[in-house]
Amino acid sequence: MTRLVVISNRVAVPKARGAAGAQGGLAGALNSALRKHGGIWFGWSGQEVDEYSGDIHVQRSADGVTTATIDLEPQDIEEYYNGYANSTLWPLFHYRIDLTEYEREFGRGYERVNERFADSVLPLIEKNDTVWVHDYHLMPLGERLRARGVNNQIGFFLHIPWPPTRLFVSLPYHERLVRSMLHYDLIGFQNDEWLESFLHYCRKELGAEVNDKTGEIRLDGRTSRAKSYPIGIDYDHFMAKGDTGKARQAQQRLMSSTRHRVAMIGVDRLDYSKGLPERIDGIGRFFDTYPDQVRDLVYIQIAPPSREDIGSYQDIRATLEQKTGQINGARSEVDVVPIRYVNKGYSQEELFGFYRAAKIGLVTPLRDGMNLVAKEYVAAQDPEDPGVLVLSRFAGAAQQLQDALLVNPHSPDDVSHNINRALHMPLAERKERWEKLIVTVREDNVLRWTDNFISDLQSAEMTQQA
Ligand code: UDP
Repeated sequence: MTRLVVISNRVAVPKARGAAGAQGGLAGALNSALRKHGGIWFGWSGQEVDEYSGDIHVQRSADGVTTATIDLEPQDIEEYYNGYANSTLWPLFHYRIDLTEYEREFGRGYERVNERFADSVLPLIEKNDTVWVHDYHLMPLGERLRARGVNNQIGFFLHIPWPPTRLFVSLPYHERLVRSMLHYDLIGFQNDEWLESFLHYCRKELGAEVNDKTGEIRLDGRTSRAKSYPIGIDYDHFMAKGDTGKARQAQQRLMSSTRHRVAMIGVDRLDYSKGLPERIDGIGRFFDTYPDQVRDLVYIQIAPPSREDIGSYQDIRATLEQKTGQINGARSEVDVVPIRYVNKGYSQEELFGFYRAAKIGLVTPLRDGMNLVAKEYVAAQDPEDPGVLVLSRFAGAAQQLQDALLVNPHSPDDVSHNINRALHMPLAERKERWEKLIVTVREDNVLRWTDNFISDLQSAEMTQQA
């Protein structure tokens, strides 16, 4: 088995203090891949230094993952991370052209940091390594490595959606960005919808020769391949978290605080792509439509803060607080508060307990590459008395989880109607749906995902040599 060099924006050192908290789905997935294949995980340390030095910090963690990190300077963080990655690409790729900022300095910072990544990781790459680059922060990195003579197999996986061509072309220098991506041997997407949009762009805008069946893209004498690989959860690892005192305590804590009422849960980073204000509107519509059920249901929203330096993230927090306050103000009694809004993160053990105590899981992003919370909710259910997943049709996960109650998150009526359906769903139907969902969640897990991607990458022909 060849060694793996994983490159992503941030490196989450496993078992390090503070890494657990609101860790995104990506971090857990990559730790699992590295535990299995061995190798190095390279990225930004998350630390800021006055001036960029290029120093590389190498560390070996307790469970055998070697990490190598660099520190960035304030201008890098501002222009590359808060700027191009999270104020340009993130909103645009989540179809939020209204929130997308197109600053020239952001683009320059992005190019600069990608060069810095390439320079720093270059000496760590050995002849037979397989290189796997992750996510929208590092789309041009493959080309930068090729320019430095790296002929290894290099794959790229995008964890967020790929937008429709008509939106994507609003990005200045879009052609340059995608042309640089075609230096990867393999380009992975979360689902077929994002893959189709990418292939459409390559054909229409670049005039590439595209084979829709195989995903092969030919341009300027190079061949690259694009394919969808829906990411899953680390099923066994997650189930082990459920078998702990901490998980049981969390479950008990939620159940005793909700008593005879049904708990409905949402767990989302505080991000505008997650559709939180729209979800609260849907819950408000439910209470308006079924006022006699206000006492039957309590909604718990866990929303750890995210990217707090960016204005649009401050705005979403203010909007959510206001909407939650309005509904609670209008609907509370001395002994009933219909929405509990918690602005902090919990460990996976605690989340497992909360998911299991909640009879409805409400996952309604407006756009999401995949959404692992939906899969974790399914995994945590009691097989004898499973809860109901209400899932946005616009989450990448919807393609696989067709037995959830699929909703349009933009429609308060649809959300309200499906909350009501979930609340009254007979046990037999709940079981039938859950038994189908759990097969996908268990089988299409993160280990299968990494195996599929890595084996496809390693068997890709060496077509990229200059
Ligand atoms: N998560 C967590 N603690 C929290 C909230 C979320 O550990 O308080 C985890 C959650 O269990 C899931 C991940 O963060 O594994 C979120 O992944 P998802 O794909 O749903 O969304 P992302 O945040 O990556 O956009």
